[in-house]
Amino acid sequence: MSILIVDDAPADLDLLKSILTDSRRWKVRAAQSAEEALRVLASAEIQLVLTDIMSPATGGLEICRRIKAQPDLSHIPVVMVMAKSEREYLNQAYEAGACDYIMKPVDPAEVVARVRSVLRSKEEVDRRMARERELTSAAQKLEAANRQLQRLSVVDTVTGIANRRCFDQTLDRVWRSATRHKYEVALIMIDIDFFKNYNDSLGHPAGDDCLRRVAQALADALMRPDDFLARYGGEEFAVVLPQTGVPGALVVAERLRFCIESLGLAHPASSVARHVTISQGVASTVPVPAVPSSNLVSIADQALYEAKRSGRNRAATLDDVYHNELSGFAAKQSHNRTPGPGDLSALRFKPQ
Ligand code: GH3
Ligand code: MG
Ligand code: MG
Repeated sequence: MSILIVDDAPADLDLLKSILTDSRRWKVRAAQSAEEALRVLASAEIQLVLTDIMSPATGGLEICRRIKAQPDLSHIPVVMVMAKSEREYLNQAYEAGACDYIMKPVDPAEVVARVRSVLRSKEEVDRRMARERELTSAAQKLEAANRQLQRLSVVDTVTGIANRRCFDQTLDRVWRSATRHKYEVALIMIDIDFFKNYNDSLGHPAGDDCLRRVAQALADALMRPDDFLARYGGEEFAVVLPQTGVPGALVVAERLRFCIESLGLAHPASSVARHVTISQGVASTVPVPAVPSSNLVSIADQALYEAKRSGRNRAATLDDVYHNELSGFAAKQSHNRTPGPGDLSALRFKPQ
């Protein structure tokens, strides 16, 4: 540990220096002016400053004030050395930030005892401050980890857009709000065409990259602030459009289809185009109480299947499914077969 003694009277300086040096506990530095003292403090690790309180050149009170005003020095304890006649300055010394004082003429045993006591207190304060810093840093790390965890719980790690969990929560929230305020909710289910072939011909890393590019393009193509895109799973995405009917959702779906087609990502193993394309199922309804949002998902899914069946790189709706079902129904009737339950009715919303 190093102690800095500041005094412009060489005799007093030498006396204090020899007392502290003789105790063989500390390294001792000396300065004869405030400027010299501050230079030493700036260049060396000092644990304690002993300064004469009133000597004209050093100006002990001023040194103390300047040490306490500097954030990187203010933790250093300052002990004032003063003559009995200078007692009247004691108050000012404490106000300036001094922590203790020693009376002249100095008694060697008292000097050593005071210095030891001040340094012990300082060590304790340092230990507490270090512990406090550790706790603050641990709390900050925990907070950052919590934020990251919170982010990971709603973000898809491959594409960086909302994940399935976030989709379920969002659709549920929008669905409840739309039920209460009686507005339409549209859902578009999106599926990349022949994506298995894409992986098989270009490899999974390229497949992942394609998923990222498609996700980004879909996100860029959505205009309204409440429109919501998520990765539903695998190569499937979902878009929730609050306050949107089927005609509006079809306009959005066409914009999405066009954006992906315009990306021009080469797809060497697609049967519908030379580049990556998407098929989409579009559905919309004004939800009514007791009808779960999964009904909308299943209708959009049926429509998506219809888009695949009828050629891919397109969007289809429930009407297209009906149309298809009706043709099938007619065909079945012509073969004198009874239609099974659910061919059409399973696709309708069933309010309680
Ligand atoms: P369709 O046009 O009928 O949709 O055909 P498809 O090949 O796209 O559909 P299928 O369901 O047969 O294959 C989906 C493929 O998506 C299977 C799997 O290899 C791929 N896939 C799913 N998740 C990921 C992923 O995270 N990364 C990569 N690279 N591929 C994925
Ligand atoms: Mg799929
Ligand atoms: Mg697919």
